[in-house]
Amino acid sequence: MMDALLLGLLLAAIAIGYGLGRLQGVRRKPRHARPSAPSSTLTRDYFVGLNYLLDERPDEAINTFINVLDVNSDTVDTHIALGKLFRTRGEADRAVSIHQNLLARPALAPETNARIQLELARDFMTLGLHDRAQRLLYTLLEQQGDDALRYPAKKLLVDLLEREKEWQAALDLVLPLLKQHPNFSRPAAHWLCELAIEEIHDASRSLARRHLKKALQLDPGCVRANLLLAELAMDNGHPERAIEHLEHIPEQEPAHIATLLPYLRHAYERQDNVSGFEAHLLRLLSKTPYTSVIVALGETVHRREGVDSAIAQVGEHLKMAPSLGGLDYLADLYVESQRQNGREADSRLLLLKHHTASLLANRPRHRCQRCGFTSEALHWQCPSCRHWGTIKPITGIEGE
Ligand SMILES: [Zn+2]
Repeated sequence: MMDALLLGLLLAAIAIGYGLGRLQGVRRKPRHARPSAPSSTLTRDYFVGLNYLLDERPDEAINTFINVLDVNSDTVDTHIALGKLFRTRGEADRAVSIHQNLLARPALAPETNARIQLELARDFMTLGLHDRAQRLLYTLLEQQGDDALRYPAKKLLVDLLEREKEWQAALDLVLPLLKQHPNFSRPAAHWLCELAIEEIHDASRSLARRHLKKALQLDPGCVRANLLLAELAMDNGHPERAIEHLEHIPEQEPAHIATLLPYLRHAYERQDNVSGFEAHLLRLLSKTPYTSVIVALGETVHRREGVDSAIAQVGEHLKMAPSLGGLDYLADLYVESQRQNGREADSRLLLLKHHTASLLANRPRHRCQRCGFTSEALHWQCPSCRHWGTIKPITGIEGE
């Protein structure tokens, strides 16, 4: 399909170039002169290419057509488009030679030169030659030139710096752009979180905290910054401050309640405050009755008052927010209750439990809101679409 597209583009380009050449030739000649004959080399190569095509040898046909197509101001766009096509069909090395060949031409306009450099940087990136792509983009950005190219060049450079985990360099590039391009605020907040994690590893907690505060300034919805601030507060022996940070998360993004629960439990356990944890869970339930909260509450009541109280509590909450995960947990509680009462678990109950468990088995826990990528673990940057903060816990009847 791509070969057909490539060949179509080449044939059209050659035909147009040939047509233009003839037309210009005719215009330049005096009226009485005969129009010039087509170049014999072009004609010969053109038919050689067609022969390859008819013999179903598209690679040879493409090579022949490229040789026919001279580089000049009329065809430079076609060459750039060809390079792009080679890159998208996985032949970035051929794209590199086309783009480098173009750059070797001395008479290119500065804007054209910049466009080709940008394409060449994309080729290097596709080939995994990140250093070369990076150097080329920094050189391109140092040049005074076409403003329209500066933004795509910076965007590409940011992508490269992210892949190389050069968070500070990415921030340096993006911070001056935020007013004009607020879409960078969310990734920038995550880069600050990444820097904070590095600082925590280097035992520089105050610097880590500064990064996280700045992350929240850039993106007030950054759940990750609050989770990290809560972790820092716990490490410093302040569970009450950790709870304060965690309290912001349901307002930032309710779906992340499932993410914050283990942190919340840990903070209340550190305070030895089970009733505080229970009250906090009830507060969360009154706003958003997620399965993970119902199960966490059931586990607390189970430990404190026993299995039958947990059954009553969980049963009541599931009436308002039924879910497969909740039903599965309730079945567990019933099985345990029967065993505690010295009875064998009811076979019908075990069958029900078997069904709920198999329905839940292999279900992903997280999904990217942008591209639909699913995973068991929470990734802050989607491995598929590379957007930050778009993966969230799956909620609803089959969620969590
Ligand atoms: Zn995604």
